[in-house]
Amino acid sequence: GAGRVVVVGAGYGGATAAKQVRLLSGGRIEVVLIDPNADFISCPVSNRVLGGQKTLAQLTFGYERLQRHHGIEFMRGSVTAIDAARSRVVAGGEKLRYDRLIVAPGIDFIYDAFPMLASAQEQIPHAWKAGPQTRNLHRQLLAMRDGGVFTIAVPPQPYRCPPAPYERACQVAFYLKTHKPRSKLMVLDANPVITSKRVLFERAFRELYPGMIEYLPDSELRDIDVATKTVKTTFDTLRSDVLNIIPPQRAGRIARDAGLANVDGRWCEADALTYESMVLPRVHVLGDAIEAGLPKSAHMANAQAKVCARAVVALMLGEAPDAAPAFANTCYSFVDGVQAMHISTLYRYDPAGRSMQAEGKGVLSDHASAQEGVDAEAWARRIWADTLD
Ligand code: FAD
Repeated sequence: GAGRVVVVGAGYGGATAAKQVRLLSGGRIEVVLIDPNADFISCPVSNRVLGGQKTLAQLTFGYERLQRHHGIEFMRGSVTAIDAARSRVVAGGEKLRYDRLIVAPGIDFIYDAFPMLASAQEQIPHAWKAGPQTRNLHRQLLAMRDGGVFTIAVPPQPYRCPPAPYERACQVAFYLKTHKPRSKLMVLDANPVITSKRVLFERAFRELYPGMIEYLPDSELRDIDVATKTVKTTFDTLRSDVLNIIPPQRAGRIARDAGLANVDGRWCEADALTYESMVLPRVHVLGDAIEAGLPKSAHMANAQAKVCARAVVALMLGEAPDAAPAFANTCYSFVDGVQAMHISTLYRYDPAGRSMQAEGKGVLSDHASAQEGVDAEAWARRIWADTLD
């Protein structure tokens, strides 16, 4: 063989990278993919569980095709240490040697300001990693009384998937409008404005859910009382029936523990041609864990993983990596049961800044439509197949 690549994290970034290394090396490079979860659960589309259009089971997929079709060795467990000097990782007490390491652990939450939130996730779920918390938040929505208050607190940028809190607001409002029309939805945004698809979300709030959604910008959380689900912001005190606080975020813990998070101790910095870490040689890092001036999306993690895998294979086989990568990010948001809208942006490698640069402002839908809802479903099917089949 031509060596071994170990991949930490089998989410959108890691699973794609693992598959692409196998494909691009013609099976010559051995790949071990490690994740504590037995299944892949998609964050994209998970807001529609709240709207009642999807179940979590429909967003859950196994890793068996990566193993069977691509000869990837899937190992269930958490990587607890990276020993870059000896080129090995520790997972489940076992030491595993690598020639190159790809780290794609996604995000962790920052509870420094509100430590009590960390132990109150049953009462106040974030549902920002699809799984049991998505189910919990959905259950709370179903159990809420008509006339109740559902609150979503949006963290300051940067966080995973900029438009997703506002898509979630639309999905919750869609459910409430049909089933509990006297209820209220509060969006407490730590940011000064909606930072993605702003005009379209504002129109959706106004036209589809008149009088139901109250959007409060510059609403940084000052205090939280778990027992009464009461939050204090800069200006208000608000008691909720269902409280969905999305905490501020940083790179997944293993990236920070390994010393890879060299941007504010929070995010990792990677070379835009190879995704090799700026800190540790032969360790590559990608997806939500990096700060690259790119949106933290599944589409981006998938695109970065392809550039990274090509570079890793080239470097291991003694070839030159692609010198001019380009990729697009397309991001759909559902505003009700069937209508979606999107923004699409092209990014090109800029040799002067050694980074990926957006071409213009991207292309935004004129308005949400059922046709784009169909397109959004096709997008999801395509990226699941591309990542996992
Ligand atoms: P993840 O997909 O989170 O994968 C990280 C993996 O690493 C996990 O499986 C985790 O278990 C594993 N891991 C962590 N630590 C370790 C360790 N120590 N050892 C082993 N494994 C480890 N993006 C879009 O493009 N389109 C959308 O429509 C969209 N909608 C979204 C809606 C919501 C509600 C949310 C929350 C997100 C949405 N996103 C969307 C964003 C998308 O989910 C993320 O950007 C994407 O998952 C990032 O991929 P990743 O590989 O970096 O992280």
